[in-house]
Order: sequence, then structure tokens, then C-alpha cells
Amino acid sequence: MPLSSSVGTAVPRTGSTTYGAIEVLDLPTGGLETVPVSIVQGMRDGPCVWLVANIHGSEITGTAVLHSVLGQLDPRQLRGTVVVVPTLNPAALRTSSRTAYYDQRDPNRSFPGARKETGEEYYPSVYEQVAATVFRYIRESADYLIDMHNAQLRSVPYTIRDRALYRSEAQRGEAEKLAQRLAGMIDAFGVLVINEDLPRAYVSKELHRSTAGAALNEARIPAFTAELGASRFVDERGYDSGVSGTLSVLRWAGLLEDGGQILKAPEIPYPVRSIDHPRAPRSGIVRYVAEPGQRVRPGDAIATLHDVWGRPIGDGVVRSEREGWLTGLSTGSLVYPHSSLATLAVRDDEPLVAPWPEG
Ligand SMILES: [Zn+2]
Repeated sequence: MPLSSSVGTAVPRTGSTTYGAIEVLDLPTGGLETVPVSIVQGMRDGPCVWLVANIHGSEITGTAVLHSVLGQLDPRQLRGTVVVVPTLNPAALRTSSRTAYYDQRDPNRSFPGARKETGEEYYPSVYEQVAATVFRYIRESADYLIDMHNAQLRSVPYTIRDRALYRSEAQRGEAEKLAQRLAGMIDAFGVLVINEDLPRAYVSKELHRSTAGAALNEARIPAFTAELGASRFVDERGYDSGVSGTLSVLRWAGLLEDGGQILKAPEIPYPVRSIDHPRAPRSGIVRYVAEPGQRVRPGDAIATLHDVWGRPIGDGVVRSEREGWLTGLSTGSLVYPHSSLATLAVRDDEPLVAPWPEG
């Protein structure tokens, strides 16, 4: 359906790009916190795709991607609607921080979704209130959603696919359809797909309350997270992947008919999920010898490790014990015992559609 109602003060207009903002919070110093929104409304009917970024204020690549995509979309050639939110968290962007200065809670675990009952009165945190306001518009209008992030040091671009969860056997068919539409959409982004944590860990880490997690598992909208390289600056490789992946998804969903390519995720021998691996055996100073993107086998060196005097710790090398793909490095230089050195995408044969975990 074409978007018929406003998103905050942004009013959709056929064949035009319009600008506005969602009022999310009144500030104690007067004035309002607002989340910027652009709406590109096509001339013909089609789906409504939400493109959002920068909920973690230090992750800026998605914002640059959205600026580029907006500049390339011609509303007179578009089918359907694209709603663009270049920052979901202006307070965190202002301070280049992961979280808003008025709420240290992870904003990407703050959207509506099942919470653990404590038996006490529940008062939503400041950002939970912001997220609830934005989410009302998402739930109302989005057919698809992409949420853009940055990951770690020298990270390769990848997407994260949440599992579609269902609460009763009667909902299983709907969850399977949802997972299928998500599979098509995420494939069209054209980068390595990493499956999200298994259901028990997913819910206990509140990943079902991330932007994409809540869109998928609460609003039942195909949605995924795109990790576009390292944070704190516009990661050029992540930027290129983000722009081409987003345009490709818009083609796949039928909004863009510009003759451009619909991408496919690279084929790898088995599905994967991400783990923190290897871990540091002791404290020390790290120098990486492996490169993200690289396939890793058990015994392959990931880093060297020395004490502050320069003596090797153990044989001076930290090796992978697992097979997989190195997707990013965890730390610049220093580690403590059990610190994660890298993220590794390892084999994951668990189902992509699953019941909500008990309890
Ligand atoms: Zn992030």
C-alpha cells in the first residue's frame, strides 16, 4: 500500500520527496527531541520500505548510505514508498556515543517486545519511550525494514538474520512464510548472511527488542540488521555494500525498475552464526595476524600475544579452535583473560523458524 498517513510532520506526497520529523521527547531544557524522517512517495502503488540507521550514535556509515540512496531515488520512477530515518538516536549522534546521554540502556534492545515479569510496576526508560513512538509508525506502515549498523575493527560487511519465532503451533505457518520472505530480502542485500543467536540466548539478551528483531518478531514485518564495517567513521567498504545492497533490495521488492542488478548473498558451504572466538588465555598485548573475511581452520593463528615486557605468552600465538569465517576483530591492542579477540561465523544448522523459548 502507498503510505497514506504522515510520519510525524513528514507528509507523503505522490511523486515527491518530503521531509519532517517525529517528536519523540520533550526536553527538560525546553524544546523537543525529534527524529528526522524523509518520505519518497512513488507515482504508482507498491510496498512501503523503511530504511533506518544510527540507533547507536557512533555508527555513522548507515546514515551516509541513506543520504546516498535518497539522492539516487527518483520519486517519479518509484513504485511504492521509501521512508528514511537517517538517525534513530539523535542524542547519541550528537555525542558520537553508542547510547543516548539520557539513557545508558542499549537503545537497540529497547523496542516493544516481551519482557521478564518482575511483579513490580514497570516504568519504561527514556529511550524505550522514544523507541515506542517510532515503532508505532513502523508497525502502521512498513512492509519491509532494514536497520543499518557498524560492527568491529576491520569488520567485513554482513547481515544478521533473526529467527522467526512463533508462540503456538497455529502460528507456525505464518512464521514460516515470514522467514521465507525475509530469506528472499536478505539474500538480495548481497553480503554474507549470519544467523542471529539461538532462541534462548536471543530472548535473554533482549535481541527480540532490537529494531529489526521487534519489526520481525513483534510486528511480523520482514526485517534485518546490516553491519556495514567498523564504527566511528564512514567505512568505505561498508558504505559501498550498504548503497548497492539497499538499491538491490528495493529492486527485489518491486519498488525500483531501473534495470540494475538484484544481488545475491555469497554462497558458502553451510549456514553460519556468530561467536566471539578465540578468547585470550591471559592478559597481554595483541597484534593481529589474521584478516577479517578470511576462512579460518582449527589451529590457524589469529593474533600474537605478549606481556608488557615483550615476552611471548604461551608460545606467543592465539589460535582458532573452530572452523569458520573471520568477520571482525574485537580489540585494538589490550586483552584480559577471556577477552574476545575476534568474531567468527561458525556452522549453524539450527532451524530459522522456532517456538518462543520457555520462561
Ligand atoms: Zn549497532
